[in-house]
Amino acid sequence: MTKHSFKRVDADPNFVAEEETLLKRYYEEGIVDQYLHKNDSSKKHFTFFDGPITANNPMGVHHGWGRTYKDLWQKYKNLQGYKQRFQNGFDCQGLWVEVEVEKELGFTNKKQIEEYGIEKFVELCKARVNKYSKIQTDQSKRLGYFMDWDHSYYTMSDANNYMIWHFLKVCHEQGWIYKGHHSVPWCPRCQTAISQHEMLTEDYKELVHDSVYLELPIQGRQHEFLLIWTTTPWTIPANIAVAVDPKLKYALVQGTSGDKFWVAEDAVERIFGSEKKGILQTVLGKELVGLHYTAPFDHLPAVKSVQVDNPDTFHSVVATDPLILPIVTTEGTGLVHTAVSAGSEDFKLGKLRGLPLIPVIDDEANYLSDGFGEFSGKNAKKHPELIIDFLKKQNASGHPCLFKVERYKHRYPACWRCKTELVWKVADEWYISMDQPGKDGRTLRSRMQSVAQKITWLPDFGLERELDWLANMHDWLISKPNRYWGLALPIYECECGHVQVLGSPAELQEKAVSGWDQFAGHSPHKPHIDQVKISCEKCGKAVSRINDVGNVWLDAGVIPFSTLLDPQTGPFSWMSHHLRQFWVMPPFWPRTAAPCTNPGATPSNLTRPPAKLASISCAGSTFASLLRKISCLATKKLTKSAVNSILFSGILIAFLSMPV
Ligand SMILES: [Zn+2]
Ligand SMILES: [Zn+2]
Repeated sequence: MTKHSFKRVDADPNFVAEEETLLKRYYEEGIVDQYLHKNDSSKKHFTFFDGPITANNPMGVHHGWGRTYKDLWQKYKNLQGYKQRFQNGFDCQGLWVEVEVEKELGFTNKKQIEEYGIEKFVELCKARVNKYSKIQTDQSKRLGYFMDWDHSYYTMSDANNYMIWHFLKVCHEQGWIYKGHHSVPWCPRCQTAISQHEMLTEDYKELVHDSVYLELPIQGRQHEFLLIWTTTPWTIPANIAVAVDPKLKYALVQGTSGDKFWVAEDAVERIFGSEKKGILQTVLGKELVGLHYTAPFDHLPAVKSVQVDNPDTFHSVVATDPLILPIVTTEGTGLVHTAVSAGSEDFKLGKLRGLPLIPVIDDEANYLSDGFGEFSGKNAKKHPELIIDFLKKQNASGHPCLFKVERYKHRYPACWRCKTELVWKVADEWYISMDQPGKDGRTLRSRMQSVAQKITWLPDFGLERELDWLANMHDWLISKPNRYWGLALPIYECECGHVQVLGSPAELQEKAVSGWDQFAGHSPHKPHIDQVKISCEKCGKAVSRINDVGNVWLDAGVIPFSTLLDPQTGPFSWMSHHLRQFWVMPPFWPRTAAPCTNPGATPSNLTRPPAKLASISCAGSTFASLLRKISCLATKKLTKSAVNSILFSGILIAFLSMPV
C-alpha cells in the first residue's frame, strides 16, 4: 500500500476566516512594510496619484474593481524596482457629503441647515468623512490593497485648501477669474449651480415630458403664426425671441382651419401630414429675421417691463449662430424658442444678438414672487401643467396659442448628487476664463491644448478625448452658492467693485482688519473663515469673503501639488513661492496630512508610465513630465466626461503652477 502524501482538504473551508488570517500575517510579519519600502534606495521613480475616493459611504463593488487595477499597477511597478509613493487619497468636501448628512438629519432643504447651525452641520460633515475614511481603509486592506494607510491625504486638509487658494491667486494674477452673470444649470433642491464638469453622462435620465407646439401671432399679419416647439414649457414666460437658421428654407403652411404657420420646409410633412390645405410660400430663414410677434404671457408685469425697455428686440425673430445653437429639422419646427434666462445656448445667443432677459425662477425653481401674477411662488419644474393648463384655457377663450401637446422622450440632466431634474437660471457665479489671454498673451485653453499633446496617453484615444473636451470646454464655473461644506473660495469682493483673491493664510492674516483671532486655530471652512474681514486695497473698506464654496473638482485636481513637501524644510509646497523646486518626491508622505481612497482607475484612465520619470523627478520638473504624472490621476468614474474632467482639473492646475 502506498502512503498518502497529501493532507486532507477541508470539504467546507471558511474562506473569509482564511483571508483574515492571511492578511493578519501580511501586516504582523511586516510583509506590507517590506513591500512599501522595497525600492527605497532605487534611483528609478514612478509616481502614481491616487484620484481620491469620496469618503462618504462604505466602498461599493465598483470601488473594489477600480482599486484592484490601481494596486495591480503599483505592484507591477514595484516588481520592476521603481521607488513609489503609496499614498491613498480621500475626497472629503462638497455636496455629496452634505446631502448624506442632510438625510441623516432628516432635512429636506437648506433652510433647515441654517436653523440647525452651520458650524454644527460642518462638524457633522467632517465627522462623516472621518468615519467613512476609516471604514474604506479597512475595506481596502481586506482587498489586499497595499498602501501607506497611515498617511493618506484628505482633500479637506488645510494643505489642500490653501494650495487651491494659491492656485486661484495665480489665476487671478493672470486675469482669468471673473464673476459672470450667466444662465447656469441649477439644482432646485440643493439650490446651487451645477458646473459643466459635474454633468456626467450617467446623470442624464431618460424621461418623458410634455412638449408643446406654440403658435405665436406675427405682428401686422392676419392669421399668420410662427410655430415653435419646446420640451420645457415652464420656460415659455421667459421667451424673448425665436431663432431661425438664415440659410434654411421655411414654408408658410395653411392649416385646415385656414390659419397659416411658418415652419422649416423639411418639417412640414412630419408636423402637418395631411392636416393642411397646402404650402403658400417658401423663403430662406433670413427673410423672417426682424419679424415681431406676441406671446401668451405678455400680460405678466415682469414680461411687460422687459418689453417696454426693449421694444426692438423683444419678441423678435433672430438669426441663430450655428456654433451656439444649431437648428435641426428632424424634431421641433426649425423655429427655436429662445428663453435667454433659461438655457445656456439661449443665453449665449442672447448675448450675441443683444437680447434682454427675463429672470423667471428663484433658487428653488419657484416663479419669482414679483411680476408673475398667478404663477408667482409656484414651482415651475414640479408643475409644468401650470403653463399647459393656462395655454389650454387661452385656447378655450378664443385666443388660440397652443397648437398641440405631445409626449416626448428625451435625455434630461439631473443633479449628480440628489438626482433632482435640473433647471437653468441666471445667477452671478465665479469662473475661470478659458479664452482670456494671460500675461504672456496665451489663453488657458491654448496652453492646455498644447500640453495635452505632450502627454503619452494610454490607450491612445485618451488624447483625442481630452482635446475634444478642451476644444468645447466652457469657462470653468468654480463657485457653489448657498452651500456650506467645501473649499472657502478666497475671493473678497468690495462694494467698490474691487476684487481680491488671497493666496495663503499668511496673506489673510496680513490683510485682516478684524476676526483673525477668532478664526486662528480653525480649518479654513465656513463659518469660522468668514469671521475674518480684510481691508479693500482700493478704497480701504472692510470686505467679507464671498459666501460661496468652491467646486469640488478643484479639490481633487490640486493634489499633485498639495501633497508635496519642501524637501529642505518640510512644510507643504503651497507655502512656497518657488513651487517648482519642490517637485521632488518626498521620501515618504506628509505626516500631518489629514485623514481618505479612490475608485475607478483602470487602464483606460492611466497613462503610460513615463520612461524618464526618475531623472525628471529628481531634477525638478519639466512640464511634460509633470503632466505625465498628473495624467496618472485615477478617476472617479469610468465615463468619458469624468475622466476628462479630472484630467482637465489636474492639467489646468499644472499649467498654472509650473512655467512651461
Ligand atoms: Zn441636487
Ligand atoms: Zn473697495
